[in-house]
Amino acid sequence: MYEAKAAGRGRIASFDSSMHERVAEKLVLESDLRHAIGEGQLSVHFQPLHQLQPYRIVGFEALTRWIRPQRGPISPAVFITLAEETGHIAALTSWVIEHSVAQLALWRRSEPVMAHLSMHVNISGRDLARPEFTAYVQQVLQRHGLPASQLTLEITETTLMSHLVAALKTLHELRATGVQFSIDDFNTGYSSLAYLSTLPISSLKIDRSFVIGLNEKPENVEIVRAVLNLGRSLGHQVIAEGIETAEQLATLRSLGVPVGQGYLLSRPLCADQVPALLSLAKTVAA
Ligand code: C2E
Ligand code: MG
Ligand code: MG
Repeated sequence: MYEAKAAGRGRIASFDSSMHERVAEKLVLESDLRHAIGEGQLSVHFQPLHQLQPYRIVGFEALTRWIRPQRGPISPAVFITLAEETGHIAALTSWVIEHSVAQLALWRRSEPVMAHLSMHVNISGRDLARPEFTAYVQQVLQRHGLPASQLTLEITETTLMSHLVAALKTLHELRATGVQFSIDDFNTGYSSLAYLSTLPISSLKIDRSFVIGLNEKPENVEIVRAVLNLGRSLGHQVIAEGIETAEQLATLRSLGVPVGQGYLLSRPLCADQVPALLSLAKTVAA
């Protein structure tokens, strides 16, 4: 039934042994994920966000990693989707917020240069639909003494739009406390720009698919320019994701994109590697 539904409306799919294996594997994965959250199998890597001109680190994006015992790493694209489908996303998001806020608070205390950096945490539209979410985020920030303005919650355009009615109240409540919001993978969904402009958002993240091929496809340059203009007129910061080559970086800088992240600038790092990177960043040529 799921195979038929996934193929579109009014489809037929015949059941075979490979489907049985896939369903069985998914059930095992779901059960493993439920245990992983409580058993310390998750970890967070931090990818720096750089101001592009002059070049300096302005924050980090927290990216969750899951290594299954005896089986190895699972891609976030797989386990985040599974967590959303099975209702485990609430526990996962709460864990990531707690862990990332605690980490930034610790860095702020031990490294004065990190006092003004921000932490970006990915959340799902479903999180914003939870009535207790605002109180939870506030409580974590207070407990660790982190100003709300240093936490940015990233939400993809698609998941925000699919939970919009339930999400709006929380979005406004949290924004009023100072928490920032960023639209992730911007321009990959089908939301109305007129509607997006009414939301209390502080930044737009240009999806990696527009940064790839920036130097081969003139239309991608025009898309980046359009998002920049939109950001400027709505007062939103613009961040480019997935910068992999020096040519892409040069083009983004010449277009005036203020902030970027990508493997060229830094891969996601485990927490121990971050303080060393900060001293290194000071020496990287602008
Ligand atoms: P995202 O939020 O758009 O994060 C950026 C993704 O691009 C990350 O993949 C990052 O490792 C990868 N990336 C960064 N720079 C480059 C680059 O230069 N080239 C390429 N090819 N990739 C780059 P990752 O860690 O596999 O995460 C994938 C997606 O999973 C994230 O996309 C986000 O939507 C979701 N995700 C990850 N952690 C969490 C989480 O804790 N909660 C939620 N709700 N979603 C998460
Ligand atoms: Mg993100
Ligand atoms: Mg993204």
